[in-house]
Amino acid sequence: MKLLEQKRGLVVGVANAHSIAWGISQACHQHGAELAFTYLNESLEKRVRPLAESVNSTLILPCDVSQDDHLEKLREALQKWGPLDFVVHCVAFAQREDLDGRFLDTSREGFRVALDISAYSLVALARACEPVMKPGGSILALTYYGAEKVVRNYNVMGVAKAALEASVRYLAADLGPQQLRVNAISAGPIKTLSAKGIRDFNDMLKHACEKAPLQRNVDASEVGKSAVYLLSDLSSGVTGEVHYVDCGYNLMGM
Ligand code: NAD
Repeated sequence: MKLLEQKRGLVVGVANAHSIAWGISQACHQHGAELAFTYLNESLEKRVRPLAESVNSTLILPCDVSQDDHLEKLREALQKWGPLDFVVHCVAFAQREDLDGRFLDTSREGFRVALDISAYSLVALARACEPVMKPGGSILALTYYGAEKVVRNYNVMGVAKAALEASVRYLAADLGPQQLRVNAISAGPIKTLSAKGIRDFNDMLKHACEKAPLQRNVDASEVGKSAVYLLSDLSSGVTGEVHYVDCGYNLMGM
């Protein structure tokens, strides 16, 4: 049974075939969705365009979410493309020096950049997409456990994810009257381009694997399957939620 047949979605955040956004895109494509993609810059376009074309995408655009004029061009392109059923936000960035050592030492600029690109961008993207989204539509963001608990070296990104999760709730309240839903998936650690920027990321993978009830790490295809649920009518009564896809890691105490 295909859950996203006749549905069109925008995916923001594919960098390469290891991206969580690509795992989500593949699952959406398998469920019959038509997809539009954005890429950050020319060097990533070389990777994103062939991936997008492999799932027959007809709209592939540049978009740096920190640039208002890029979001405006995206809004115009989406208006021409036609009504949108879902939006996937898989974007995060912090300066490398802020993903190491003490959170206390985060610079004002490092804090601003991380919060702008990793949290405010969801608000800006939702606003750009709102005029073209159909009632029943769904917006999905990606978050991590470091929003709630201190995770060594995650630092300013944990604070940005806390802002992102709060933004999910506020956006859910604002967009609910239009029958638009906003949710997040809190994924366990997965080896991606961004993850490589976090110091000792392999230790995070090992720890999560040892502590999680399922005794393994999650992969992007599993995030993709849960994303299909949150993007489809199966979750029509769910909004403002953070849904864990982490092999149960979050529920374990000592
Ligand atoms: P990734 O590097 O594949 O994806 C991050 C994406 O953010 C890239 O496509 C990059 O181009 C994009 N990006 C960065 N700055 C941007 C900007 N200014 N404008 C537009 N795009 C920009 O890594 P990923 O791990 O797949 O990350 C996707 C999402 O999943 C992120 O929100 C990340 O925090 C979240 N997440 C990752 C993990 C993990 O362990 N990998 C776990 C939980 C949540």
